[in-house]
Amino acid sequence: LGVLDYFDTKCASSKEITDRAKARIPGGVQHNLAFNFPFPLAIEKAEGAHLVDRDGNTYIDFLQAGGPTILGSNYGPVNERVADVIRESGPVTGLFHEYELKLAESIHRYMPHIEMYRSLGSGTEGVMAAVRGARAFTGNKMVIKLGGAYHGWSDSLVYGLRVPGTFRMNAKGIPFATTSHTRESFPHDLGQLKRKLVENRALGGTAAVVVEPLGPESGTRPAPYDFNAKVRELCDEFGALLIFDEVVTGFRVGMGGAAGYFGVTPDLTVLGKAVSGGYPMAGGVGGREEIMATFGSGLDGKSGAHIQVGGTLSANPLSSAAGYFAIEEMARTNAPVIAGRAGDRLTRGLQRLIDRYGLPFVAYNQGSIVHLECSGVMLLDMHNPLKLLKENKPRKKQMEHMGAAYAAHGIITLAGSRMYTSMADTDEVIDDALDRFDQVFA
Ligand code: PLP
Repeated sequence: LGVLDYFDTKCASSKEITDRAKARIPGGVQHNLAFNFPFPLAIEKAEGAHLVDRDGNTYIDFLQAGGPTILGSNYGPVNERVADVIRESGPVTGLFHEYELKLAESIHRYMPHIEMYRSLGSGTEGVMAAVRGARAFTGNKMVIKLGGAYHGWSDSLVYGLRVPGTFRMNAKGIPFATTSHTRESFPHDLGQLKRKLVENRALGGTAAVVVEPLGPESGTRPAPYDFNAKVRELCDEFGALLIFDEVVTGFRVGMGGAAGYFGVTPDLTVLGKAVSGGYPMAGGVGGREEIMATFGSGLDGKSGAHIQVGGTLSANPLSSAAGYFAIEEMARTNAPVIAGRAGDRLTRGLQRLIDRYGLPFVAYNQGSIVHLECSGVMLLDMHNPLKLLKENKPRKKQMEHMGAAYAAHGIITLAGSRMYTSMADTDEVIDDALDRFDQVFA
């Protein structure tokens, strides 16, 4: 079947309901991951490594909701315990409950540098809060991010350099002035980062350097192994805080996150996704006690010293309990390592197929984060991104079209170029996926 034939002939029910959705939902779908999807599938069931759509078609799920479900989708043992909490307290009361502490204690157990943790509503909110806290703590104004990095959709961090291989940000609706305290450095160019830190001295100093520790866009532009340690040194030299955005990497590259993996300690860490085990309101910020005091509650009698962060549903019992149970379950089952091994097997198999068919792609992974890129994009010179982006645009487009073909063969990916594996990905699941990739490549 051709890709579009697949949707037309096998997905009648998905088509009917998503056509209807166009009248009430802008663009017909609500979730930004679904925006990237080749055709609007309506999913009815999720379990472990698989999804089933409304028409009864089964897919191997390498989207895993964009990363939070390291234990696999719809994980029963966590669901049951969360259901008990809901039966007792319902999803929200607005007052203190035990699970917000248990979650913070669990995070500290596996990421000891997170001495204190403030739960918020999402990774986006966590980054916003981290940046605000860094400004309040240091008294400095400027923030530096790396081009091509995704830190959520807040005004001052969306705007971005177009870095090959990463998604292009849409800055429509964001006044340029909103970004005037944000500067971008080309990924992994320490010389340029240092120059920006120097320039920022005249602009109010640098409050923080924010990085995705694996490299922009979840490692789509992979960072050299010693990059984070060098950024740490530069931050110390210039009095800036180092913020690790571990929304994707936290618990995924290991229970200690990327900080544990690289052996580099950030001042602040943003968590999201896995921190509530796939349940809603996944996100927050944590770090050293003296910095986290900036996020205080006012109960210490120093309310004037605190920054404003919060949210009606922040730290609700449901997401706190889900996060706590999921984190302890990931530790008990060794889920990050098992998911990482599945990522290794998938990557090796993909590269074998790429070589066999002589395709202009390359497969690589950092544990359970698997990238399937066009090799042209990977070879690009960072310093000429616009020219090179243009040259490789057709190939990048082709990768997205491949994503549609994978879906028509029963594999869900993120835009054809990224896959997340989970603990549910047994050797059989990965080998089944590789057979399907083989059919598409053939
Ligand atoms: N930071 C990174 C590295 C992310 O990948 C994401 C989301 O994909 C975010 C922040 C934003 O998190 P959220 O979608 O929970 O707002």
